[in-house]
Amino acid sequence: MTTITEHVRCLIIGSGPAGFTAAIYCSRANLSPVLYEGMQPGGQLTTTTEIENFPGYPEGISGNDMMEDLRKQAIRFGTDVRWGVATASDLSTAPYNITIDGEKTIRCDTLIIATGATAKYLGLPDEAKYAGMGVSACATCDGFFYRKKNVAVVGGGDTACEEACYLAGLAAQVYLIVRKPFLRATKIMQERVFSTPNITVLFEHETTGLFGENGVEGAHLIKRRGQSDETKVDIAIDGFFLAIGHKPNSDVFANYLEVDEVGYIKTVPGTPRTNIPGVFAAGDVADPHYRQAITAAGSGCAAAIEAEHYLSANKL
Ligand code: NDP
Repeated sequence: MTTITEHVRCLIIGSGPAGFTAAIYCSRANLSPVLYEGMQPGGQLTTTTEIENFPGYPEGISGNDMMEDLRKQAIRFGTDVRWGVATASDLSTAPYNITIDGEKTIRCDTLIIATGATAKYLGLPDEAKYAGMGVSACATCDGFFYRKKNVAVVGGGDTACEEACYLAGLAAQVYLIVRKPFLRATKIMQERVFSTPNITVLFEHETTGLFGENGVEGAHLIKRRGQSDETKVDIAIDGFFLAIGHKPNSDVFANYLEVDEVGYIKTVPGTPRTNIPGVFAAGDVADPHYRQAITAAGSGCAAAIEAEHYLSANKL
């Protein structure tokens, strides 16, 4: 731990819908919250295109616009929003200490962890080899570079379908590489994929490697691995997009908090309470099931209300 530079009543880590909703409620409750935005200000929604299912936006809203609105709303009520990433924590006794950017330590009476989750990779050495040279986990960030080219998206969930549809609007051809014989995505997303002419779904295919001289030029796949008709297939692509789920960003707190086998912070069911009094977890870092902007926002609200109760019960 570095030198303690200040003591705040309520510290919020993370700037997705959970963090900013917690900030709006905490600031309106006069808790004078300080919010650190983390590695990806605005969170995962800033890497998505249109949000069509957040109640109250009949025409949809872009992820960036929604996060900018939430940020402004939190600041309007007095949240101190700062750049910085939580790099260490000491939650052994209250008040709790959180180190920011490895440089300074903030002491807090209550802590709301809303650090979200990060995209997963397959773990192939080629993903690292071609990082920034054709491998990406964010179609909306990088899709622009693949106009009129061929790309592949790995995964069979809503994210993969959404990314494939987005890329289909830019690229010439999109392959959706799915390891099972079916998609896990919701019906509406499946229908969009199947009705988009330049998306080809490769069911029961796994990626074993990538190839190319100065960047990705193709992928090695295996069809029906382990079956009697197992076949090796190569596809020619310029971009390889991962959409196979996320890992919760709980490492900094995991020494003190109960987490599940994947790293999701365990909370008392139906509440954002962790195993440590005064420490609350909201949004995707504690949600292996729903992982929606609206559920994250709801849990951020609950965390703020819990923080207020904790502070007043302990006369802090
Ligand atoms: P999911 O966990 O739902 O899906 C992950 C997909 O990746 C699955 O098809 C899975 O395959 C596949 N996968 C995982 N590991 C590997 C691997 N090693 N190799 C190949 N494939 C792999 O994650 P999502 O990010 O798609 O969605 C997360 C949550 O967010 C869901 O609840 C989803 O509904 C929601 N969401 C909602 C959106 C919306 O409503 N607009 C948009 C995006 C996400 P398998 O099926 O075989 O396990």
